[in-house]
Amino acid sequence: MSDISKSMALFAKGSAINSHGSLEFYGTSVQDLLEKYGSPLYVVDTDEVRERAQYFVNTATEAFHNTTVHVSYAGKALLTKRLVRIMLETGMHIDTCTMGEMRIALAAGAPGRRLVLHGNNKSYEELELAIREDFDKIVVDEPQEPARIAAIAKRLGTRARVMLRVSAGIHAGGHEFISTAHEDQKFGVALLSPTQNQTVPDFDNVSRETLEVLRTSPALRVLQEILKYPELELVGIHSHIGSNIHDADAFMQAAKRMMALRKTLYCTDAYTLPEVDLGGGYSVAYLEDEDSMDIALELQKLAQSVKETNAQLGMPMPVISFEPGRWIIAPTGCTLYTVGTTKTVQLPDGTYDSKGNLIHQRRYISVDGGMSDNIRPALYGAEYTAVLANRTSESEPVLSRIVGMHCESGDILVHERYLPQDITRGDILAIPLTGAYGRTMASNYNQALFPAVVAVSKQGSSVMLRRQTIEDLLEYDQD
Ligand SMILES: *Cc1c(COP(=O)(O)O)cnc(C)c1O
Repeated sequence: MSDISKSMALFAKGSAINSHGSLEFYGTSVQDLLEKYGSPLYVVDTDEVRERAQYFVNTATEAFHNTTVHVSYAGKALLTKRLVRIMLETGMHIDTCTMGEMRIALAAGAPGRRLVLHGNNKSYEELELAIREDFDKIVVDEPQEPARIAAIAKRLGTRARVMLRVSAGIHAGGHEFISTAHEDQKFGVALLSPTQNQTVPDFDNVSRETLEVLRTSPALRVLQEILKYPELELVGIHSHIGSNIHDADAFMQAAKRMMALRKTLYCTDAYTLPEVDLGGGYSVAYLEDEDSMDIALELQKLAQSVKETNAQLGMPMPVISFEPGRWIIAPTGCTLYTVGTTKTVQLPDGTYDSKGNLIHQRRYISVDGGMSDNIRPALYGAEYTAVLANRTSESEPVLSRIVGMHCESGDILVHERYLPQDITRGDILAIPLTGAYGRTMASNYNQALFPAVVAVSKQGSSVMLRRQTIEDLLEYDQD
């Protein structure tokens, strides 16, 4: 069996192995793609992007039937004008959090009413643009922000729709989550004050006591402050608890807390928050042996829980919104690299691989990219897999480490992977799942050039983001 076929489930839907044993997308081989667009290269299957976006919208809408659902695509995962248009066509809104993201979405023709602005430190110019363009939501992140937004809206002679980002005390990501009232992080206004830390109220069975505790919630205070400004329309509350979350229970706990806060505001101010945004963070499988999240099942469980909670609280269902980024885009993308230097190092006696096998040597395979086009492994130990993409090989798999070309020994893309021994200069390696947080987190470290992002689909291939050139670098540098 070829090395590629074991990993094909991790590549985009439009991928296949052709009769020469090479990875291809809609009939175009990786060799042809690199020849045409250069190496390294990000490849994104835009037909699958559309399919996944539509699937998320439809699945969430079905799960919460009889309730309005809004889904926003988190643009920070990967943003191009073409992707913005695809998302809009599937009914999605777009989440932005900087002037750059806002301008790209607007340049793609997104109406303000389909855009959301996030951020813990928004500039005057960003707020002004969002208000001018009549954004669907500006997500307030701190207690002083309502006054800033109201003042700008007043100056512009208009109103702004705002949400409050609430830090629910649930932080999740990877495989575990913690639930605490400690709020030692930069985002949002805390649901519970530090003095409430010792006795976190019961959110599973919200009682009179739970609501009593929430009457002194820092988040409640900011919501009440927002209600005082005639220039602000309070649309709802927002909770984003982390990224790449596998455990749907974390979303349910956060949702319960949000619904309890909504009920409290109804009790104190007779105001029913129209919308509750449950954020993003849905996980994908990065490796062959990882389970992927059954999004339909998880959204059904969440819908059931949210409906029960609101029934218990005697509250009508709010509009429910979601903000997936990674789940939509990560599996649709991969990065192609060309192999350069390879070397084998002898390991000290008593060295084991991660599966506990005694190992004596490790092969280093250097590629023409690295931490500048995928910082995630170096930044927080994110794991990826890789395949030999331009041919099959019957050569024995050996323990290999894929490293980049940067002046940094931590410049590792894949720590441990058994790859054919005969991989050599000029071969092509493909790393799947780089659609999210690859290009958008890229840097010019060592003056490396941003690779192009190429769209592949039934229509063929075309450049979405062009490759940076040496001329671009020289132009930045003013004598
Ligand atoms: C990052 C982020 C998202 C998207 O997270 P994913 O893990 O890519 O789904 C959604 N909402 C907010 C506020 C975010 O910061």
